[in-house]
Amino acid sequence: MSGIYIHIPFCKQSCHYCDFHFSTTFKGYRDRMIAALCREIELQKHFLNTPLETLYFGGGTPSLLTAEEVKQIIKTVRNTFDASALKEITLEANPDDLSETQLHGLYDAGINRLSIGIQSFFDEDLQYMNRAHNSEQALRCVALAKQAGIENISIDLIYGFPGLTDDKWQRNLDAAIAMGVSHISSYAMTVETGTALSQHILKGKSPALDDEQSIQHFKMLQGALNAAGFMHYEISNFALPEKISQHNSAYWKGKKYLGIGPSAHSFDGGKRYWNVSNNMRYILEIEQNKVPAESEEITNGTAYNEYLLTGLRTIWGVEDTAIKAFGEQCANTFYEEVQVYLKSGMVLYTDGKFTLSDDGKFIADRIASDLFVLSEK
Ligand code: SF4
Repeated sequence: MSGIYIHIPFCKQSCHYCDFHFSTTFKGYRDRMIAALCREIELQKHFLNTPLETLYFGGGTPSLLTAEEVKQIIKTVRNTFDASALKEITLEANPDDLSETQLHGLYDAGINRLSIGIQSFFDEDLQYMNRAHNSEQALRCVALAKQAGIENISIDLIYGFPGLTDDKWQRNLDAAIAMGVSHISSYAMTVETGTALSQHILKGKSPALDDEQSIQHFKMLQGALNAAGFMHYEISNFALPEKISQHNSAYWKGKKYLGIGPSAHSFDGGKRYWNVSNNMRYILEIEQNKVPAESEEITNGTAYNEYLLTGLRTIWGVEDTAIKAFGEQCANTFYEEVQVYLKSGMVLYTDGKFTLSDDGKFIADRIASDLFVLSEK
């Protein structure tokens, strides 16, 4: 089973914290980009050799596409791959794009799951982030989506930034739970090099981010969503029963996926590929029937490190049998280094499986990197 990710590299405006690949000046080549995405799907028809289970429109801002454009891309996917098992088609959306007409169009085009970038229900926070929507649109979009027939809805929230007091964060969590969504993704704000936020902090226009505040907000997030019946199945992801993201879970479990579009990544089980992060170069190459991608072989050591990095973030954890299958060097490193975390209670061991405790989740990446192998002999 496998999944396809389609990267839509357009945004209305640039959120101050974002370092994803997108352009805000795309009107002159929009049609060529849609045609190139469809052409790349056809060029990559041999990449997947198992039936397609999930399709995910990410970005960028896929909700800037018209329903007709979404339909055209889905049709191309269905005509190119074995889509008989395709069950989850997600589209990332921003609240300001979700009019009644757009939502009905997306539903008719085949979208059965939305991931909506709400981030906060407070206008001053949305302005701080330079989001294009306002709190009224944030509050209204989920009900509109449900009325249009899309029931499987995830929302994104951000915490740990200046101005988001504990009280406001609690009110964001309460509002999110009250909306009746089935999935919530929530991330601590981070400062990425080259973003407007990093410049604002450097120039003293914004206070630096506060790690203690992020930890406190993460605890509040866990408490509120656990109490509301959500399963904390990945560090940043919470779902009601049966509502985990099938697409993202497949990444975390190391399954194959194909990425379409500028900057999209793919994995075929042995090699990782990434497309050029430049819209015009992407279009020009695809128009000559070439996929502008670089690739690297995944060594055994890298595969082991990635297994730890993603596995430990999930409720599925990492398993004895899988660790041993990476060979003696990886297994020896793991069992030696994990002892300290088992003793401290940060890592738990049950039925052949290692998972992180709630305290361990605060330092998941540090634990994983302490268990990494640096190089293979
Ligand atoms: S809408 Fe999303 S992809 Fe676009 S700039 Fe904002 S966070 Fe980044």
